[in-house]
Amino acid sequence: MSSFNIGLLPGDGIGPEVVAEGVKVLDAVGSRFGHEFAYTSDTVGGAAIDAFGFALRDETLEMCKAQDAIFFGAVGGPKWDDPNAKVRPEQAILGLRKGLGLFANIRPVKMYDFLADSTSLKPEVVRGVDLIVLRELTGGIYFGKPQKQWVENGERHVVDTLAYSEHEIERIVRVGFALAQGRRKKLTSVDKANVMESSRLWRAIVLEIAPDYPDVELEHLLVDACTMHLISRPGDFDVIVAENLFGDVLSDEASMLAGSMGMLPSASLGARDEGGTGLGMYEPIHGSAPDIAGQGIANPIAQVLSGAMLLRLSLGLEAEALAVEAAVDAVLAAGHRPPDLAGPNDTPKDTTAMGDLIVEALAG
Ligand code: NAD
Repeated sequence: MSSFNIGLLPGDGIGPEVVAEGVKVLDAVGSRFGHEFAYTSDTVGGAAIDAFGFALRDETLEMCKAQDAIFFGAVGGPKWDDPNAKVRPEQAILGLRKGLGLFANIRPVKMYDFLADSTSLKPEVVRGVDLIVLRELTGGIYFGKPQKQWVENGERHVVDTLAYSEHEIERIVRVGFALAQGRRKKLTSVDKANVMESSRLWRAIVLEIAPDYPDVELEHLLVDACTMHLISRPGDFDVIVAENLFGDVLSDEASMLAGSMGMLPSASLGARDEGGTGLGMYEPIHGSAPDIAGQGIANPIAQVLSGAMLLRLSLGLEAEALAVEAAVDAVLAAGHRPPDLAGPNDTPKDTTAMGDLIVEALAG
């Protein structure tokens, strides 16, 4: 029997509700495949602000560093929404990214056929979409210095700085090539090389390391063109890799292709180099959904599928990950729907019932 340590950070709103179902499914994986998962839970986000005055305590970060992977729910809510507040729930996410060196954000976007009518695009455009947006998470314009406003001659000025090192670019692009190798072997590298110096270095590095991955077809797209192609021919993409700002925008755009927020998982991977932890953090892309929190009606599938990514990417348990994904597919194929996906003729299943059905499907 193998045993693994998982840090649980359920957070706020529906976070604890969906994390409970994710844990239920991980435990079912443990029973079926003979693994033991030991969980250490802690409070982050708004709940941690209320309890301790900080969104992320040092102790929590240290606890996370001692785990094999982190399973995160969501943070935030109207109670802590004051934009001028010194402590904000999102500081937990930024602190974890920084503290754990999580430099690669992986967002798979898979369109389930039964949702094809739920997107704002034509069903024939989105049917069959199965892509990953890979975003660099710890560099670029969100972190570059100087970042400031000042007044000169009575006029306001501002500067943000976009800085990357060769090493930061290379490691994220290599993750992109490796992901593509495990899929349909196509990598789209996104930049703005016709205008930006940072993009010219990005493209040069992509071209330099491409020969290490001869089986992967490489395409370069300017970011403006990519935003168009994502909605005109999304089925053509396999893995898209982009620096932080471009990836932020493209990953949100891509999530709309799937028809529902409640279905999309994500992973943020740490660096094993530079003394980093090599840890991964897994969470749904949706937020804490305060409008439905406490009602037991949240869709737990994004959290459950984040658990599948955790099994695959942090624990190396591919068969187990596939089993979870197949169980979700089977439950949906059998016509079961959480409230956010239920049509007029469906009887919606609440959060716990969806989790139970996935566990049953896993047990076979
Ligand atoms: P949200 O994703 O929480 O909700 C958007 C809409 O989608 C809501 O109507 C919600 O009910 C619905 N929804 C989301 N997840 C769902 C699920 N699993 N099942 C069914 N319906 C679901 O985004 P928001 O409303 O913009 O933000 C709410 C709070 O969450 C804010 O405080 C925001 O800052 C925070 N947030 C946190 C994260 C995170 O923790 N990673 C991400 C985004 C937003």
